Amino acid sequence: MDFDLTREQEMIRKEVRRFAQSEIAPVAVDLDEREEFSVALTRKMGEIGLFGMFVSEAYEGQGLDYIATLSPWRRWPGWTAPRRPPSPPAIRLASGRFTTSAARPKSANTCPGCVPGQAIWGFGLTEPTAGSDAGGSKTTAMRDGSHWVINGSKIFITNAASEMTLGVTVQAVTGSRPNGKPEYTCFIVENGTRGFKAVPMKKKMMWRASNTAELYFDDVRVPAENILGRPGDGFHQMLKTLDGGRLSIAAMGLGGAQGAYDAALSYARKREQFGQPISKFQAVAFKLADSAMEIECGRNLLYKACWLRDQKRSFEKEAAMAKLYCSELMGRVANHAVQIHGGYGLMKEYNVERFYRDQKLLDIGEGTSEVQRIVISRYIGC
Ligand SMILES: Cc1cc2nc3c(=O)[nH]c(=O)nc-3n(C[C@H](O)[C@H](O)[C@H](O)COP(=O)(O)OP(=O)(O)OC[C@H]3O[C@@H](n4cnc5c(N)ncnc54)[C@H](O)[C@@H]3O)c2cc1C
Repeated sequence: MDFDLTREQEMIRKEVRRFAQSEIAPVAVDLDEREEFSVALTRKMGEIGLFGMFVSEAYEGQGLDYIATLSPWRRWPGWTAPRRPPSPPAIRLASGRFTTSAARPKSANTCPGCVPGQAIWGFGLTEPTAGSDAGGSKTTAMRDGSHWVINGSKIFITNAASEMTLGVTVQAVTGSRPNGKPEYTCFIVENGTRGFKAVPMKKKMMWRASNTAELYFDDVRVPAENILGRPGDGFHQMLKTLDGGRLSIAAMGLGGAQGAYDAALSYARKREQFGQPISKFQAVAFKLADSAMEIECGRNLLYKACWLRDQKRSFEKEAAMAKLYCSELMGRVANHAVQIHGGYGLMKEYNVERFYRDQKLLDIGEGTSEVQRIVISRYIGC
């Protein structure tokens, strides 16, 4: 067994760390305060290749493995903007994993500009009445000659309403299966298509520098070649996208936990009460010891899930476990970090309050913690 990163993976980790410290950390607090999605940072992230990491070389990416792609996140300091790395569907689209129909030229399968960070793309699954129960989607698409006509709405869609957004991948009901259940199909809807509107959602408690939108589809006509894969593939595609996305959320949890822990350890060594650093008090030291141990557990769980995926083996159960564990891990560590900072931990100028707020989405996005437990319990045969 080899727990070391390869030379290439280590180099990538260092470069991303350098970028995060020099480019993201200095503006993270301000972006959070102003609720601003940073186009400039997104472009810079694209320039250093962050959005092409697991996109195949055929589509201008680097074709790296998951460990190389997700290991840098483990120490993502000041982790704020834009939280979600390349939007999964954009990447999937760009990588040709789920390509559009053969009628669509190959070049059109790529979200132009996504890999170099000139554009972003949204992933539209959640609806006002269909969140955890994604199978309850009400958005419909009806065939009309060589086109499909989409009607409905989506909510909480990341990256869907920024000035860099090119469009969204959207799941819609296109009929019924032989067993009577709805048939789902994914469509590519480009910005500017008549009847399609993306409205930014503001006043979030967390992820304030991330772009979130409500989407409205009012008789939106898209050509049949805008179907991703084949009609009826939609539900399977979305579930596959979520399996990969869970690894990303787990990496965010791990990186956030590491960031909160680093801040807490550093503060505890410097802050003196009763004539000594508070890190010398067992009550504080044990919180840090527990955090260090749990971060190590989370890292091993996440790396194993990534490794399984890189080996093209089944990784879905481990991805759900890593997502659940690392999300909740960040909650425990950020809670300790705020406690160790005392009153200062509640003030905005100390970063730990942001870790504390930002963590909450990880328990909810890409399938809630309850949904992860349902997934895991099915895999273990309950
Ligand atoms: C900032 C942000 C960004 C997001 N980005 C995207 C995106 O890019 N694309 C996208 O499609 N979605 C996105 N989402 C939506 C997110 O995935 C959903 O919010 C999430 O899946 C939960 O759905 P819901 O909010 O409707 O909650 P609900 O499904 O209504 O759940 C409410 C509560 O009930 C629990 N619950 C529900 N069903 C069960 C059950 N069977 N057993 C036990 N408990 C259950 C849940 O765990 C939860 O605690 C985003 C959300 C946010 C807040």
